[in-house]
Amino acid sequence: MTRRVSILGATGSIGCSTIDLIARDPAAYDVVALTGGRNIARLAEQARALGAEIAVTSDEALLPDLRAALDGTGIACAAGPEAIVEAARRPADWVMSAIVGAAGLPPGLAALEEGATLALANKESLVTAGPLILETARSHGARILPVDSEHSAVFQALVGEEISAVERVIITASGGAFRDWPLEKLSEASLSEASSHPNWDMGQRITIDSASMFNKALELIETREFFGVEPSQIEVIVHPQSLIHALVGFNDGGLMAHVGPADMRHAIGYALNWPARKELPVERLDLARIGQLDFRAPEDARYPALRLAREVMEARGMAGAVFNAAKESALDGFIAGRIGFMDMAGVVQDVLAQLSGDTGLMSAAFSLDNVRAADHMARVRAEENMAGDNAPQRSDTWT
Ligand code: NAD
Ligand code: MG
Repeated sequence: MTRRVSILGATGSIGCSTIDLIARDPAAYDVVALTGGRNIARLAEQARALGAEIAVTSDEALLPDLRAALDGTGIACAAGPEAIVEAARRPADWVMSAIVGAAGLPPGLAALEEGATLALANKESLVTAGPLILETARSHGARILPVDSEHSAVFQALVGEEISAVERVIITASGGAFRDWPLEKLSEASLSEASSHPNWDMGQRITIDSASMFNKALELIETREFFGVEPSQIEVIVHPQSLIHALVGFNDGGLMAHVGPADMRHAIGYALNWPARKELPVERLDLARIGQLDFRAPEDARYPALRLAREVMEARGMAGAVFNAAKESALDGFIAGRIGFMDMAGVVQDVLAQLSGDTGLMSAAFSLDNVRAADHMARVRAEENMAGDNAPQRSDTWT
């Protein structure tokens, strides 16, 4: 039986790794929808190679280019955020959610509403709307499988275990590009310095988020939402080799560590083949050659994002959506050269503080509209905070 699969964010780092696995066994899959952003050449090439039913770009202005690139193939073309949601609704057994940012939430929800198994790389879905996405899965009998390496690791360590026996969950962090920089130099970190990761080859935004640990901050919240553990049970440890992805500590003192290569095809393949394990084209670790694994506590002054994430977990409600949107705006500001590397945490902290008194906004029930409203307000506030001499250029991934 072939499986019907769709890939949201096909042209990105996770999307390409997913396609790499699917393309190794083409007879096993029918590719339904592939979605991408502005890289039309890559999207069209992927759609042709896999014989997709439909290719969708998020940018409506690029629809003519996509049509031209797929002319004569019989592959349907569409454009815009709504078209991505519609593509996600097409009947599929397995949908990879690998769009970056809050824009990944609406199509992920749509796939769950249709009962598809959602392989979730888009951690922002759980950060902004954890209760909504979990309830949507539950009420439609759909399953969510984690793809983030740490969460895949926890998921694997929990096979056959009772969640009630879990004492703590430890997620590892490489420490990012600046883990060994003198603290006082961090404020001068450049875009290109922040865009290179010591161990993982990922999209630019998550790579910068790794240097600032905003990525780990999102993952703390993601861990809490996905596994239902208390914030006090979740720890972050800096592990420069990035070979242990997470550990689960049980009430008998035992720790189960998940060890694997720093290759996202492991976590993607686990979600693709779940509940079976199948051979994957990833490196087999030679522990004698690796020799040692190191650990250290994350420094608060270097990684203020972790403290902010803990505040967000305490506040709950729309704090996650505000946190993520403010972070996305601050990241846009850093990429555009409008604010410095260490200013990102300051912008996010200010937006959280400014909106925390708005109980109508922050305590609203979890619906897509309310999450969108919180996201929007946070972007407006972040923009105001960053607007200095430079002209504001607001980014809103949902409009
Ligand atoms: P990426 O930037 O390489 O790719 C993002 C994809 O989303 C591309 O296809 C892009 O065209 C599309 N996209 C971007 N903005 C969009 C929008 N507004 N609307 C629709 N599509 C849009 O990102 P990535 O590194 O592959 O990460 C994807 C997701 O997976 C993120 O949530 C990230 O946090 C998560 N993740 C990535 C890795 C990794 O190794 N890259 C690891 C764990 C989790
Ligand atoms: Mg991760």
